[in-house]
Amino acid sequence: MLRDELYREEILEIARKILHEGPICNHCLGRQFAKISSGVSNEIRGEIVRELLTGAVQDGKCWLCNGLFAELDRWVEAALKKLSRYEYDSFLVGTKLSGLLMANEELMWELTGAIFAEPLKAELNREVGKRIERATGKRVDLESRISLSY
Ligand SMILES: [Zn+2]
Repeated sequence: MLRDELYREEILEIARKILHEGPICNHCLGRQFAKISSGVSNEIRGEIVRELLTGAVQDGKCWLCNGLFAELDRWVEAALKKLSRYEYDSFLVGTKLSGLLMANEELMWELTGAIFAEPLKAELNREVGKRIERATGKRVDLESRISLSY
């Protein structure tokens, strides 16, 4: 079980360090342990790690993504609006991170060693892709290469 896989001193030690830095959302917390187990979202991973560390509560805006994951629907809507002008069967999401977010991720990786981490961009692309799939019924195609910048 994922809970057991995450319940390791090595992981909890890293999680304590992360939580000590300031408020962090479950996406960003869980993403630092993305390589532990597949088939589950980083958000769920983060939830479990937070539960395992008693007394760890989420408060305030995430210092790593600056609340980006909480506003994902806004980005998805913008992408859908743009996509509505085109005919397509499949799509591929690519994101460009601001300098601040890239710097925050670097800080995080310095702190944790990034042993189990997945890049922020990878989660962002996947989460936005999932939502666009749900809204349009079209599929993410990892081979598509036509770019529509936003
Ligand atoms: Zn975050």
